[in-house]
Amino acid sequence: CGVFGIWNHPNAAELTYMALHSLQHRGQEGAGIVCSNGENLFGARGMGLLPDAISQVQLDSLRGYRSAIGHVRYATTGASELSNVQPFLFKHSKGDLGLAHNGNLTNARQIRHALEEEGAIFQTSSDSEVLGHLLFKAKSPSFKSNLKAALNQIKGAFAYLVLQKDSLTATLDSHGVRPLMLGKVDGAYCVASESCALMAIGAEYIRDVEPGEILTFNDAGMEEDNYALETKHRMCSMEYVYFARPDSEFRHHSIYNVRKALGEQLAKEMNIDADIVIGVPDSSLQAAKGFSSYSGIPNEQGLLKNRYVGRTFITPDQKMRERAVRMKHAPIRDVVEGKRVIVIDDSIVRGTTSKYIVKALRSAGAKEVHMGISSPPLKHPCYYGIDVSTHAELIAAYQTVEEIRQEIEVDSLTYLSVEGMHGVYKQFESKGECDACFTGNYPIEIVDHLLPEEK
Ligand code: 5GP
Ligand code: SF4
Ligand code: MG
Repeated sequence: CGVFGIWNHPNAAELTYMALHSLQHRGQEGAGIVCSNGENLFGARGMGLLPDAISQVQLDSLRGYRSAIGHVRYATTGASELSNVQPFLFKHSKGDLGLAHNGNLTNARQIRHALEEEGAIFQTSSDSEVLGHLLFKAKSPSFKSNLKAALNQIKGAFAYLVLQKDSLTATLDSHGVRPLMLGKVDGAYCVASESCALMAIGAEYIRDVEPGEILTFNDAGMEEDNYALETKHRMCSMEYVYFARPDSEFRHHSIYNVRKALGEQLAKEMNIDADIVIGVPDSSLQAAKGFSSYSGIPNEQGLLKNRYVGRTFITPDQKMRERAVRMKHAPIRDVVEGKRVIVIDDSIVRGTTSKYIVKALRSAGAKEVHMGISSPPLKHPCYYGIDVSTHAELIAAYQTVEEIRQEIEVDSLTYLSVEGMHGVYKQFESKGECDACFTGNYPIEIVDHLLPEEK
């Protein structure tokens, strides 16, 4: 998912809408905005891409409100339905509260069961809602101390934005798994999942929010605080590999350059000679460039992407996913015919994309097709908010690299090593990354998978 928030700007709703547009790649299932007029909160949300989710009429109705939060949704837990589209808007005698969450809580079901036992009624099936309940249940008159207590109860990955009539609060989990960036536009503070959203609205990108940090924005300015006794840096590796937009920056380093370096590292590890190297558009074009610059093998555009087809991974069933992949990528015959081709992709999840691409390149006349993957094999599900969800769907969870090579019918298959990947992130001043989907070393405890499955 993607989140954005802004405090005290005359065009809060419009800027939120524009920022969400730049975060659209982080979620296409639904979108919403909640605004404050200084007294009450008002919201608009809907299913689908931003222009379908929020109409011009709705946006106009929020004009003039000075603070806002917004969300684009990519479902990892909770059904794909309107009630789960964020920001959530809680109406309460203590004051309205808006909530937007990116990530995934790993003990939400446990907390929810306990709260339901005490009589709480949840409005959604989303894990994100529990924070709202914990905040209202708390007894202290200080919102900050209630928030700290609540944040110390929840486990998992989260970038949370909380909007109230007199403040906007942004907070990150103690491992900093999901990105969150601080910015400023026309004197107003704002926060966004990625810096590309700050650029889109003409904001200055100040810095990355730190693990365990709480930033509060109100009419007195910004207050910096933290809630966690112990913090670690465990930024999601897949944000670099695949999820974030290449023009976004983490710690002021562009994802574009990180992906290029991942490609260079892959070239160091993959000793295959070929005539051309091509990337699977769009997310692997930078890795292919890096591969080419290290290996000296020319980089060509061998595959064309139909930009009107969405992210195939997100399509719900396998048959349709295959069809979507075919619609999405077309080989350029003149480029690949008679050539030994190295094709670079960022990851293999189920293998749908790679299988089709290898077939398509061969039918366009490629003499040899070798595949390089700019991340290690995805063997374990993600519980922290990226949809590498079930074990059974991950081809590398139950097959060796050689078996996958045979299954996708490619001449050779090389994945980037885990060490090689971390080495690249270090070059970009990263202080540590989560790699659980590759290694199974989960940095944050997972409580809920021990509970029985719900319907
Ligand atoms: P597959 O076709 O193997 O199931 O999926 C891999 C392809 O889907 C890659 O080209 C990758 O860029 C793309 N992809 C789309 N969404 C995701 C996602 O959430 N995670 C990963 N790892 N890859 C994704
Ligand atoms: Fe990212 Fe993988 Fe960690 Fe999930 S398990 S947060 S996808 S690195
Ligand atoms: Mg791709």
